[in-house]
Amino acid sequence: MKNTILIVEDEESLSGYLTKELQFEDFNVLVASDGLAAMETYQEHQNELLLILLDWMLPKLDGMEVLRRIRKHDQLPVIIMTARDYIGDKVAGLDNGADDYITKPFEIEELLARIRVIQRRADNQIDVNQVYQADDVQLDTKAHRVTNADEEVILTHREYDLLQFFLAHPDEVFTRDDLLDQVWGADFLGQQNVVDVYVGYLRSKLATPDAAPLIKTVRGVGYKLREPMSNVQE
Ligand code: CA
Repeated sequence: MKNTILIVEDEESLSGYLTKELQFEDFNVLVASDGLAAMETYQEHQNELLLILLDWMLPKLDGMEVLRRIRKHDQLPVIIMTARDYIGDKVAGLDNGADDYITKPFEIEELLARIRVIQRRADNQIDVNQVYQADDVQLDTKAHRVTNADEEVILTHREYDLLQFFLAHPDEVFTRDDLLDQVWGADFLGQQNVVDVYVGYLRSKLATPDAAPLIKTVRGVGYKLREPMSNVQE
């Protein structure tokens, strides 16, 4: 089981505090204090990492650039730590493939809750071996791969989980609350509109000319998958 967290933070008092707290929770912790060191540590320990806690404002390479470079290689979960409480930064981070963000200062419990969601998701992916299909969209849980008309679609972890959730429950309508509970985890502390943001991302990444969006808005309720689909067991 992957158990290592890479903390990328130039503020020593914060990285020291987080290291202690995370070690106390039995995580193995690595620390990098600038963006270049983060890339080196990532490359060296890639296969052990559960997730990266990534500060946004960093010397040498900023968090956005680190995230961009990591996303060229893989879909390792990344939680952004930002000191700036502007929705623009959060959306930029999510747009660039972050899985979650946390605004400084934060309580350690809030961070641990988010880490647990990622851990749970990592645990759930083991032994699941299924291919979901809805029209031209196919999601292969074994390969962790999504295609649309045989073209690969690159999704973030969260987008992938949200799509998988809809595909696994083709006939049900879900409220934003349901989706937050099921996909983000009951302990998610952000805002409900994050669901709308992610449904928007999925729609644009999976858009096909002449077809209605795969995820349908049910007015006054929430969202559902557009129509029943086949569910192929491998
Ligand atoms: Ca910083």
